[in-house]
Parts: sequence; structure tokens; C-alpha cells
Amino acid sequence: MNIMEREKNEVDWSNIIEEQLLPLVERPSRYINHEINSSHKKWEDNTLHIALVFPDAYEIGISHLGLKILYSILNKIPGVMAERCYSPWIDAEKILREKNIPLCSIESSRPLNEFDIIGFSIQYELSYTNILAILDLAGIPLRSENRWGKKMPLIIAGGNVYSPGPLEPFIDAFALGDGEETIKRIADWALNKINNNSFTPNKKLLDDLIKKIPGIYAPALYETIISNDPAQRICVTKPSSDNIPFPVTKQFAKNISEIPVADETIVPYCEAIHDRAQIEIMRGCVRGCRFCQAGMVTRPLREKSADKVVEEAVSIIKNTGYDEISLTSLSSGDYSHIAEVLKKLRNQKLFPNAPVAVALPSLRIDSYAEILADTSEKVRKNSFTFAPEAGSERLRQVINKQLSNKEIIDTIQSIIDIGWLRVKAYFMIGLPTETFDDIKKMVQLIQQLLSLKKNGKKSALQINISIAAFIPKSFTPFQWAEFSSINDLIEKRNFIFKYLPRKRVKISFHKFQLSKLEAVFARGDRKLADVAELAFKAGCRFDQWTEHLDVDKWNQAFADADINPDDYLKQIPLNSSLPWDVLDYGVSKEFHIKEWNKAFKTEQTPSCFDGKCVQCGIQKWNACPIKL
Ligand code: SF4
Repeated sequence: MNIMEREKNEVDWSNIIEEQLLPLVERPSRYINHEINSSHKKWEDNTLHIALVFPDAYEIGISHLGLKILYSILNKIPGVMAERCYSPWIDAEKILREKNIPLCSIESSRPLNEFDIIGFSIQYELSYTNILAILDLAGIPLRSENRWGKKMPLIIAGGNVYSPGPLEPFIDAFALGDGEETIKRIADWALNKINNNSFTPNKKLLDDLIKKIPGIYAPALYETIISNDPAQRICVTKPSSDNIPFPVTKQFAKNISEIPVADETIVPYCEAIHDRAQIEIMRGCVRGCRFCQAGMVTRPLREKSADKVVEEAVSIIKNTGYDEISLTSLSSGDYSHIAEVLKKLRNQKLFPNAPVAVALPSLRIDSYAEILADTSEKVRKNSFTFAPEAGSERLRQVINKQLSNKEIIDTIQSIIDIGWLRVKAYFMIGLPTETFDDIKKMVQLIQQLLSLKKNGKKSALQINISIAAFIPKSFTPFQWAEFSSINDLIEKRNFIFKYLPRKRVKISFHKFQLSKLEAVFARGDRKLADVAELAFKAGCRFDQWTEHLDVDKWNQAFADADINPDDYLKQIPLNSSLPWDVLDYGVSKEFHIKEWNKAFKTEQTPSCFDGKCVQCGIQKWNACPIKL
């Protein structure tokens, strides 16, 4: 009996999962139901059923704040039922296939193909084979055209929709930008369609969707050309009929103090990668690092009010029992209310049940000293993290990371003085214009930090260094750059290993082959869909996990699709069409070109905080609401 036949017999999948899956998998807690604050609406009482899917392991997905917010929003809408699903781990997938059990939602154990909409939350390029595995395990045809006209879910994806080309044949529609408003609009639209008996995924439905809801990109509704770049990428040129937007503009919440929050956040039974309450304090970043996609695509900068952050903190701690709050943003030190929030959260009367600690990830090193001065007694002295990104001051100017050696050294000295013993530093190699001189200067900088003293004596500072290859990303000034050859990266790695003292320094490198694959897909096009599908069929899963990346299978997939991955790694001419030109994230291509040219002249662009708007493109939305 296959999956479809079993479904027709109204099988109780929850019992089957309990008896035939959970006892046999390494971590049953990834698949069990009834976590604290999970929603349990009745299927029959609701009209619209949405499965929110995170294509990675449960412990990664359950930590994702965005998915929890969307889940909370949807389940508050009458008539709408949202459930969750995460990638089954490799052992679970094997059992599901052996026993013909379809992939089901966590809450009600409903097969995913019974939902009206599947909403994927995409975070990184190397989750694409997991997306295909999820569709396949749910008995859903991979390619959109094979689903249209059938009783199949509409497949929508949001999150990292910055170079969606390789997913375009599989996903019906992509939602651009902040999801809170868009998901509500999609739910209202779908409820209406279902009530009118006109919710069958096909081009007509997509046409209606993109005309009713802004910020939705449905690839099937556009015409394409071949670009003149080395990979001859397939690029979208124009809509296939009138009234279809080109480009598609991202949606964003102007006031993030007003957006709904997941204060009844789900608390997992097993340890998650972020096992604490999370509160977003700010969206966007205006520092202008030229490699940074997150900073560019999330502009304009928007802050949550201090009172709102504190109110959320009280509510989330009460509802979850966590004893630690993480204040999240791309650059928490830039949050103008940080001192006020930390001061207010120090009032333990707000948390009568137990003391609550506050974690501040994503601090810029130049903002740290000030915050430290005000809050040092509350900060756990475990490990101080900072990201110089490039080893030399010259290269930091090229990438527009405005951080001098003196600022780095002074800050590390100040944290040694107050008793910190461990530092973690993030660097990249393979950046545009990089030479061995920049690598030498990275080594010298680390040596200088090691020689810092405490009370006139040698300090016991330990430094952990994490080094990754630079990956050119879409919607950044470096989107045209080449990805360094693996040989070049290895030479630089060997140099660092040779010259950095190993005592008191731990060095870890990201796997270069993994970065290379990510670089191919980060600027990919529709042709790469064939490669992803072949890799999925060959058994590739969890490619983002170093221990699971199977380079041989991927190489075979590229060969079988007759595609040379190296073509996707070469520099792209500035005048080439790009597959992501169909999307508008606000910062203009002209601005990126200007920044690209300035990088090669080692010219910096001041942060908007310096008081001057450099007209990045966002000004067209008249939406830089905070006083920069
Ligand atoms: S529009 Fe001006 S102020 Fe706003 S993010 Fe762009 S450069 Fe900064």
C-alpha cells in the first residue's frame, strides 16, 4: 500500500508514528507533539490549514523566531489552523520511506499534502535538498507544473528569497520581506478562495494572488532571457501579461513596535540551538558593510520602543519559564535604547519567579565598551565575540567595515581589565583585493592581542578564531565578485596555521567545499534546479552540516546536469542581467555599483549614523523612521 492509498483509508498517523517511528529514531523529541505553547486547533473546525515548514533539523527550526511569530499570528485568525513540520533527520527519513509513512505535521500528525498551503521558511541556500525531500516524503510532486490542477497544497516560501532561481521550478510563490502582514493577507485571501471553492493551485490562482497581495513573486508568470555572464544565467526579463509587477517589491513593517510577537513562544522538550527567550529589538542595519546581504536587504533601520521590549520580556518569561532573554538584531550596539532596556531589565521585580539573564548577540566592538561600562556586573564573563572580518585595516576599508586596529586592541584590553579570559573572533578570507599582506596583518593583529597585559603581567587571554571563505551574495555591492579558488583559500589557510601561535589560540575553518557550493547557489538561476533535484535523488541532505555534505554526489549531479559549477563562481560583468533583478529590496543597483567602484579605490562610505544620507535607494520609500 503506498502513501496515497493509505491516506484514503483515513489512517490515524499519530498512532503509527508513535509505534513505528518514535521508538526507532535517535531523538524522538524531534517529532513529538504537545510542546509548551504549541497550538492545538481542531482540523474540522477550521477552513484554512497551513503547514509552516522549516527545512532543517527540529533543534535548529524551533529556535527560529520568525517562524514562531508567523505561527502565533496565523493561529489567532478564526478559521485558520497552522501547524509545523521540520526536516526529518536521516534516520527518520529512512523509516518513513521503509514503512510508507507520509511526512506529517507535528501537532495533529496530518500528512503535509492534506494542507491547503505549505509555507517554507528558507534561511540558507544549502537547505534546498531538504526542501525537496520534504515535498517528496509528503507525496507532493516536486515541480509546480506537476501539481497544478490537482488537489495539492499551494507551496509558498519566505525568508531568504534573495536569489530564488534554483528553487523557482519547485515553489509556486515567494513572499518578499517582512512576513507578519503578508501572512495575514495570504490567509484572508486563501480563506476567501476556499469559501468560494476556487482554491486549486494553478497559474490562474497565482495570477490572482500576486495581484491581490503585494510583495509576492510567482516565477511562472514571467518571461526569461539568457544573460551574458560566464554561467549564462537564466534571468527574468518581463511579466508574461499585463498588471503583473516588475520588479516585485519587498514588504516591510514601518513600525516594528506594532507588529505581533510570539510571546507564547513554543518551548521544546529537547535542547535547541537557542534555548532561551528571544526578543527582536531592531530590524535593518545602516553600517553598509559591502559583503553583508542581511544588512542591505533589511533596510530601513527600525527600532522597537524600549517599553515594548520590556513588556515583551515580562510576558515571554511568564509564558515560557525561560531564565535568559536574548535581545536580537543585526547590530545590537546600534540600538539607541540599549542602555535603557538593560537598566529596566535589571529590575528583578519584573521577574518574581527567578533571576533572568540578558544576552546581547551581534554587538559591534566599538559599541561594546560603552554598554559594558553601564552593565558590566550583569554580563556573564564567558566569551566575548567580535567580528573584524578582515585582517588588515586596508582590507577593512575595502569592505567598508569601519573598525581600526586601535579600536579592536583598546576594546580587548578593556575586557581583559575587567576579567574576561576568552575571546572569539570571526574573519573571512578570499575577500576582493585581498593579498598575502592582508593575511600577514591578520596574524600580526592576533599576536598583538595575545601580548596585551593585565595589571602589568601577561594576560591569560585565549582566542578562538573562526575563519570562513568570503561568499559573494546577491543584493550587495560585492554581488559581482568572484569566489576564490579552493587552492588559493588552502594556501591562505596553511599560512595562518603556520604563523599563528597555537598556544592560547584555537583556529577553526569553515569547510571550503561547503562554502563553494553555497557560493554557486547564492547567485544561482533556474538551471541549478536540475542539479538540486539530482543531488536530492542521489541522497544529499543537510548539506549545510559539514559532516553531511557529500561533495562527490554534488559533483556527479553537476556533471549529470551538464553544468560547470565554476562558471557560477567567476566575476560577473557589471552590465549583465542578474536572475534576482526581478526583486526589489530597496537598495538600488546603482548604489551597489557605486559601492563596488569605491571598494576598489579603498574608499569608505560613512554609516548613515554619521548624519548624512548617501541615497542608497531606500529614500524612495521615505521610510528611514529613526533619526539617523
Ligand atoms: S536612505 Fe539614506 S538614511 Fe536611509 S538607509 Fe539609505 S543611505 Fe541610510
